[in-house]
Amino acid sequence: MTVATTKPEGHRPLAEVDPEIAELIRKEERAESDTIRLIASENYVSRAVLEATGSVLTNKYSEGYPQKRYYEGQQQIDVVEELARGRMKQVFGADHVNVQPYSGSPANLAVYLAFVKPGETIMGLGLPAGGHLTHGWTVSITGKFFTSVPYGVRADDHRIDMDQVRELAQKHRPKLIWCGTTAYPRTIDFPAFRAIADEVGAILAADIAHIAGLVAGGAHPSPIGIADVVTMTTHKTFRGPRGAAILCKSEHAAAIDRAVFPGLQGGPHNHTTAAIAVAAKEAMEPSFKQYAARVVENARVLGEALVAKGFRLITGGTDNHLLLVDMTPKNIGGKPYAKALDRAGLVGNYNAIPNDPRKPMDPSGIRIGTPSISSRGMGPKEMERIAAWMAEVADHPQDEARLARIAGEVKELCQSFPAPGILS
Ligand SMILES: *Cc1c(COP(=O)(O)O)cnc(C)c1O
Repeated sequence: MTVATTKPEGHRPLAEVDPEIAELIRKEERAESDTIRLIASENYVSRAVLEATGSVLTNKYSEGYPQKRYYEGQQQIDVVEELARGRMKQVFGADHVNVQPYSGSPANLAVYLAFVKPGETIMGLGLPAGGHLTHGWTVSITGKFFTSVPYGVRADDHRIDMDQVRELAQKHRPKLIWCGTTAYPRTIDFPAFRAIADEVGAILAADIAHIAGLVAGGAHPSPIGIADVVTMTTHKTFRGPRGAAILCKSEHAAAIDRAVFPGLQGGPHNHTTAAIAVAAKEAMEPSFKQYAARVVENARVLGEALVAKGFRLITGGTDNHLLLVDMTPKNIGGKPYAKALDRAGLVGNYNAIPNDPRKPMDPSGIRIGTPSISSRGMGPKEMERIAAWMAEVADHPQDEARLARIAGEVKELCQSFPAPGILS
């Protein structure tokens, strides 16, 4: 008889089973801890959200909805999903919530499946103006399977052109109108979109993927009760796991649920559902309101500090969590600038600006946002320092010694603001 000297296969720790991946995760933890993360769609989830995400709930299959499943053994899962739905309803004041979409893009596909037939007309903000791919942009399935009529922003002030939205809606009579953006620094006027949708008999869908945390925290007006259906990601400003939710009026609940399952997806990701429940609980705490207010305040202060240093902001400033910066006055493209910033420990992304004269892969702008740094507790003083570093990088994008010095200063500042969810 032989005695087992090693642990059973499935009990060995990650570092032993796959040291390569373990080391990459460790390095990512360091990177997220030691840099100033300015990507507007990113954040830090709490340790509690990480724990739920990394749980055995990933083992369970639960096609269907609570009390209406196709598999047995749902004693825990049904409660988890009911908690997630109930809390999300409470946070947003919605009639009905579906927490099963795998991410923001599939959530939007479910809206199409619920309300539009292939070939019918839809409207959304064009990608180059700050809209999302899934709002009917040409390269997306949503631009191929539906007749897409994009609207844009005004040439002079880069605000959404509501006159154009009305004109196009009246001319093309869309079945569905999207409002909501991915690179737009201003408040969305949901009632104005509602009025236009009513004039032409369209369904109004608000996609609050980016701003859901601001809406939950009272730092941006809510589309609930105005739009027929609202989609959101749970991982951006909302600060939950990678996932999504669809919120809608009761009259659309059955259509939305059918569209998500069995229309589009199979089994829900129960570990994600649990983490959404945790994030929703966190969003009900008073500190979440403070976080949302801090995100917007930091973006405003950072914007003003950048303008004072000669940067040009699209629309001249911001109402929300993000800034779109036109690098033209600094004589550097968005891409080389974003790459130089990255070497200095300031992580953002290059981004097209409205009517960008340059190519999409080498555009004029960068997009930066304050959710991550606000989750670390940074405030106005830190925004001033970030603006100063950004100006220095713009003036010396190829001075590697200088970029390395700034990266060191960034790391030092980061040590005073521990990243949520990251131990050590
Ligand atoms: C991020 C985003 C999405 C898509 O979310 P994914 O989870 O990346 O699929 C959809 N709509 C808008 C407006 C977004 O900003």
